[in-house]
Amino acid sequence: MRKSFVTAGAVVLGVALVAVTVASGGAAATAASPSCRGDGITVAALASGCAVSSGTVVLPDGRRFAVPPSGTTVAALPVAASGAVDPGDVSVTNTGRSGVAVRIDDRWAGAPAAVRLERAALQQRTATTRATAGAATSATSASAPSSCSNKTYTRTGFRWGSRVDWRYNATGQKGTGSVTAIRAGSDAWTGALATCGKKVTSTAADRYLGTTTQASGVTATGGCGTSSGTSVAAWGSLRAGTLAVTCVWSRSGVAVEVDQRYTTAAAWSATTTCSGTKFDLRGVATHEWGHAYGLGHTAQNSGLVMKPASTTCETGQRTLGLGDLMGIDALY
Ligand SMILES: [Zn+2]
Repeated sequence: MRKSFVTAGAVVLGVALVAVTVASGGAAATAASPSCRGDGITVAALASGCAVSSGTVVLPDGRRFAVPPSGTTVAALPVAASGAVDPGDVSVTNTGRSGVAVRIDDRWAGAPAAVRLERAALQQRTATTRATAGAATSATSASAPSSCSNKTYTRTGFRWGSRVDWRYNATGQKGTGSVTAIRAGSDAWTGALATCGKKVTSTAADRYLGTTTQASGVTATGGCGTSSGTSVAAWGSLRAGTLAVTCVWSRSGVAVEVDQRYTTAAAWSATTTCSGTKFDLRGVATHEWGHAYGLGHTAQNSGLVMKPASTTCETGQRTLGLGDLMGIDALY
């Protein structure tokens, strides 16, 4: 979790805003730096403070992100196959004149002024927790949850202020029933929820609008391309070891689009029961929709839906654990 910005946040924000005003006339030389243009902008180049309005940022690990419009954050939120390296959650925020801030898990990089602004803003967003009245009501869960002993959750810094309207692109899908499994992954977080002897009502909501031929904004590197204005779940190539990636675009902490890509390279099960060495699509989709609604990763040993890696036929990931329930309740 983010630490030590609680008291400093407001002060840093004030200082940074002054700096933006002062720099508006004199930063042209920095903004024009050629290293901050084109399709190979490095994080090191962003550290110069350059303002960027187009092009592609390339992380040291090779993931690529189309520079979002000024005032927009794009986050790439993966789930890895167990045993593979967790590439980490990434957020790229374009602050406009203060440049671009990059966060990989809890590590920050990019333009220093943008990092200060975004850190302070993120602290404010994630510090506000909705009252959890009614969270302790007893209930019986339908199936064995992933973990009822771990209360942890993290927040990526955005939430939806409205229902998530989304579509499904079946091109390349691994088996019929895939969309049903992906829809169930979303439903795990919405409405009346019961797990671990507790029940809450989540105001997170979505509406499935049917199929589309439109592409998902998630790219084969596991990064995010440009926002299309339509939320799409789809299939495609991802790097070895990555099962799925969710990209979310948000403005000032309010999500505006979510795209998902499930890898065509893995063996998947989209049926009620899972057997063999296949990955359970519904369980992985539940994790990815947790990201879509604004939750980040917990520790792998938390046993929660939001841990970063999945094993084959991990059907327990279909059911929220205690921390997952508390996280969605805090957000919605
Ligand atoms: Zn994840």
